Amino acid sequence: MDKRQGVMGDGLFQRVEELIKVAVLLPKGMSDQEVEGLLRLLPPDTSRSMRALLSPRFRDVSLDFIRMIGGWVKEAREAREEGRKVVLVPFNFPPEIIYLFRNAVPLTSEVLTTLGVSVLEGQGERYWDYAMGLGIPDFLCSSSTIELGSVLTGRDFEPDIIVQSAPGACDANSKIHEFVSLHMGIPQVILEKPTDTGPRGKELHGRYFMGFLRRLEELIGEELEEERMKEVLEEANRAAELYYELYDLRKFSPCPVPNIFSIFTYGTRFTRWGRPEGTRMMRAMVDLSKRRLESGEYPAPEEVARCMWLYIGYYFDFLGFFNWMEERGITYLNDILSLCQPRFVDTSSRESMLQGLAEACFEYPMTRQMGASSMSLAWIEDMCGFITDLRADCAIYSGHHACKQTWSIINQVRREILKRTGAPVLCLQGDSWIRRMTPTSVLQEEIESFVENVVRRRRRRAGRGA
Ligand code: SF4
Repeated sequence: MDKRQGVMGDGLFQRVEELIKVAVLLPKGMSDQEVEGLLRLLPPDTSRSMRALLSPRFRDVSLDFIRMIGGWVKEAREAREEGRKVVLVPFNFPPEIIYLFRNAVPLTSEVLTTLGVSVLEGQGERYWDYAMGLGIPDFLCSSSTIELGSVLTGRDFEPDIIVQSAPGACDANSKIHEFVSLHMGIPQVILEKPTDTGPRGKELHGRYFMGFLRRLEELIGEELEEERMKEVLEEANRAAELYYELYDLRKFSPCPVPNIFSIFTYGTRFTRWGRPEGTRMMRAMVDLSKRRLESGEYPAPEEVARCMWLYIGYYFDFLGFFNWMEERGITYLNDILSLCQPRFVDTSSRESMLQGLAEACFEYPMTRQMGASSMSLAWIEDMCGFITDLRADCAIYSGHHACKQTWSIINQVRREILKRTGAPVLCLQGDSWIRRMTPTSVLQEEIESFVENVVRRRRRRAGRGA
């Protein structure tokens, strides 16, 4: 029997799917006692993540998120059964492009990895180890290699098509997608970004984008229809409006937006953008943050640090990361992924929609900075703008293991940020999806000592209390 028709083993997708089928049944309004009882039934790694998600501060919004992701996973399974195409995309690609097709659904490698790492017992270690056992170098990015390692076992859900949109921005990401495509015989469609960010580069990228769409149309067996495009992109525009409302709410101090909403924001952006489910999720986050703003609810006695994460965060311990910081008054304002600054696409014609989508790909987080003519300049300018706009008083670089391009310029970025905005920068080291690299306790010690010895002292000197 064809594996793509449903023979599964113990792959990441299938294990996440089984778990999420149960999680979506959790009702809203559960008491703390009921949650505690439930957590005791779960294996330790799963229980820890669920404890973070089911914090009473944002429990019902987490349940909305779980349902949204559950629907996304279920839709991929059903698409396979109905003969529609499942398209695996990386997180630097707008999923609404796949929703333009009636006969295709997107799955995002890095979202699957993050789900596996956050909710499965043993996290994503067995899939990473499998990939390493094949001789794949450990400098590829765990964000995609964990999910793709699972696909490589031949015992997991396999996509029908692989989209590669990291060439020009991140080789670590593009090479593992390419390898899986060639090794497993899954067709790939490549969208490359020229490093010329001027008008000539944009014009060339526009041509690449049109060629990319034509190839996608051939593989999916469907031509894009203007009416469907309009429907999807108007929905995406509604989600974008809510995105900017949430962004503005982060400007208040203490910040009324829970730290974990950063990952919910890109969890939504990378899976359900252009679908009503994504818009509803954005609305749920805005509504809760507004309520917190009005009631003055904040989980710590005071906000001691407003922290911009310069690139990405850590995803193997939500409880010890997002919740831990928030309970100490350390606000996780945003990171490069949640700063996706979605564009409003002009839906007045087919041409305007295609142009808007090409621009969205060109300016997508990571691609925008690491695929720029000057990586350091693009990154510095974006981050300085956000630090000033969101009134961050410090910044942290997670020093993700695979991110060699960011490592190569972090010293320069750090110096410039301090010079231009006055925000000190902490450089950490660790893998964002693998706990074995740097454990949470070490990261917590570093963050705590930075906030205590640098951020608070500077605040006191500036006469801002804390
Ligand atoms: S986190 Fe770094 S290494 Fe991983 S995909 Fe993004 S740019 Fe590439």
